[in-house]
Amino acid sequence: MPNQFAEIILPVAVKGRFTYSIPGHLAGIVKPGVRAAVQFGSKKLYSGIICRVHDETPNLKKIRPLLEVTDPVPVANYMQLKFWSWISEYYMCTEGEVMNAAVPSAMFPEGIAALPMVEKYKPREETFIELAGKFSDEELNTILDKLKSAPRQAGLLTTYLYITGYSSGDEVVPVRKSLLLRESGSTPGIISSLEKKKIFKPVSFQVGRLKNHDNKKEPLRKLSENQTVAFESIKEHFKKKDIVLLHGVTSSGKTEIYIHLIEEQLRQGKQVLYMLPEIALTAQIILRLQKHFGTVTGVYHSRFNDQEKVEIWKKVADENPERGYRLILGVRSSVFLPYSNLGLVIVDEEHDGSYKQHDPAPRYHARDSAVILAGLHKAKTLLGSASPSIESYNNAVEGKYGLTELKERFGMIKLPEIIVANTREAYRKKLMVSHFTPELLNAMDEAFRRNEQVILFQNRRGFSPYIECPGCGWIPVCVQCAVNLTYHKSINKLVCHYCGYTSGVPSRCGNCGSPGLATRGFGTEKIEDEIKIVFPEAKAGRMDQDTTRSKNSFSKIIKAFEDHQTDILIGTQMISKGLDFENLTVVGILNADNLLNYPDFRAHERSFQLMEQVSGRAGRRKKQGRVIIQTSDPANKIIRLVLQHDYSGMYKMQAAERMTFNYPPFCRMIRINLKHKDRASLNLFADILGGDLRNMFGKRILGPEYPVISRIQLWYIKTILIKIEKEKPLAKAKTMIMEAIEKLEKEKGASGLRIAIDVDPY
Ligand code: ADP
Ligand code: ZN
Ligand code: ZN
Repeated sequence: MPNQFAEIILPVAVKGRFTYSIPGHLAGIVKPGVRAAVQFGSKKLYSGIICRVHDETPNLKKIRPLLEVTDPVPVANYMQLKFWSWISEYYMCTEGEVMNAAVPSAMFPEGIAALPMVEKYKPREETFIELAGKFSDEELNTILDKLKSAPRQAGLLTTYLYITGYSSGDEVVPVRKSLLLRESGSTPGIISSLEKKKIFKPVSFQVGRLKNHDNKKEPLRKLSENQTVAFESIKEHFKKKDIVLLHGVTSSGKTEIYIHLIEEQLRQGKQVLYMLPEIALTAQIILRLQKHFGTVTGVYHSRFNDQEKVEIWKKVADENPERGYRLILGVRSSVFLPYSNLGLVIVDEEHDGSYKQHDPAPRYHARDSAVILAGLHKAKTLLGSASPSIESYNNAVEGKYGLTELKERFGMIKLPEIIVANTREAYRKKLMVSHFTPELLNAMDEAFRRNEQVILFQNRRGFSPYIECPGCGWIPVCVQCAVNLTYHKSINKLVCHYCGYTSGVPSRCGNCGSPGLATRGFGTEKIEDEIKIVFPEAKAGRMDQDTTRSKNSFSKIIKAFEDHQTDILIGTQMISKGLDFENLTVVGILNADNLLNYPDFRAHERSFQLMEQVSGRAGRRKKQGRVIIQTSDPANKIIRLVLQHDYSGMYKMQAAERMTFNYPPFCRMIRINLKHKDRASLNLFADILGGDLRNMFGKRILGPEYPVISRIQLWYIKTILIKIEKEKPLAKAKTMIMEAIEKLEKEKGASGLRIAIDVDPY
């Protein structure tokens, strides 16, 4: 038999796969997808995943052996390994970095100290109580007689018999100890007494950590005529195309169409992945899905702990249709679960920026990766949005994707009426009350009178984005980052939103020493405060990063609003998407200016999408809703387009601009971020790399330059942008970029430099 070798992916940021020899005693069990332990570097032991087994003797001085194999069966399947390899190539990172993002860390000890490896995942055990023997009815009577002097023990036994319905000849049934205690009002001591008397015995079972829910299945709702046309059109497109874009206005019933498509897939024994951009959204949609599909429906997002993530992983891998998950609702990271048999991937709110991971590597886009994942499974992809990304719509226009449109809301409810409120004028005429224009105040007042609800959107959390000395204009900034500190009133602290640095509020100006610093601008926390003053009767909920740190906080805030325990929901972009509330009629966008003025080529597209999206929450069930957009620039082109709900106007305008100025989708973009703690060194290295790249790519290179935020956590930052024509070979450009970077990393003093590559950095 020839010598056998294994290539292994290790959770390290070193490029390449690593080859080890397979010792004789491991020969039969090493296969792609199993975890194994190896020595890496001089001392450290690592565990990784085998990705290839072969007999081509590698050209290396020294080949170390695999030390141990953990699994009898692969934990990652063949399709996942291929998927990781695609992500690593396309997004220019190592397979180890992809694996780190993909596999729950409890399955995966990073640096391990000793052999054998210890599994970090532990199934949860729970104690059950059962009868110590198959007692007959006579025996039980005798036992109960003897227990007359111990009435609490007798009571406990009776409760057990009552719960289980046990009688002579039955198999004994274990009952959860916690349930038995609760039902009998007993104590653990009494259970032990019965155990000592050999009447009860404890048994332990492995139980899942994941919440169980009903397996009651409601039939699907009948699609409307418009929905049926769209549903058929999607299926018709799928006959010829792998990807379809469903462009349907907010509340047109897209979700309901997804549900019908899911049903067809599940019936054919296929798995479905349904992606959403925001955890907050999964809370509402999961209920809608479980109602129809029962226990085969699972959720995946970052709020699960490591142990729970392993259990979800196992349920996705479990091909038994009774036990496993067939339908997964998840955020970005759910593309990495071990699907074996996908038939359909749905990417809802496909335009949403949260699908892109910016840090750390892999800097992947979950929508674009999902398309590749679906391709590996020969599955179809459905992208859905009320305001598609320019890229996707362009693909549809060019015929690469099928396009299905839904132009009317379900139930023929009109799209919300948009009112533009001029803040500049209101300030001048002294009509502003706190941060509310008369138009918004009026609309809220009317809504409350009719016992309806209101959403207020402000894209900043905290109380004030900064505080300032009225005398000299001094603003406290973060000691580690080039950003203003945000004032948080509830904790009375200044907080850096980039690194989390906090400090007390200075009582005097740090520059001129005068007392009385003033708060400037406003965030969600301040709006909540002001609402209490302006509408003391109204109850407000707030949803932003600060109020949603705990696992179930999303569902609690949403439920309180659904049940009308709160009248107003104030929030950041978390509340802008997909949520569906029956009684919500008024939406206020408090400051459209800071959306429109964001320095990015997508700012206009993004602000249109956001405003459309938030507006879409209003008036979804019974009657037309109202949206009040507050801005100092009512004539703004984008606001005019939102006013008309004119997506196609927005698309045409943006596409023309991007064509003229050469931006995606008409070119490809790669960004290189360089960081160094020393400013001069950063400048030096950035210039070297910039020069080298310019020699290769000429005018396609922009920069190096400082980004808007030029220092984070003591690191100075510079970026280089590369724009590559769509028809040029991308793989070749990537190789050239990697070579330039590797050359730079060998320069003297470059060890303090951090380089991150971001492909499609938008
Ligand atoms: P979208 O996903 O396009 O925003 P939804 O699917 O959430 O729209 O539908 C909007 C509203 O209309 C929801 O309240 C939903 O329950 C209701 N709805 C949609 N389709 C139907 C249908 N076929 N039968 C009954 N109600 C529906
Ligand atoms: Zn001052
Ligand atoms: Zn900071």
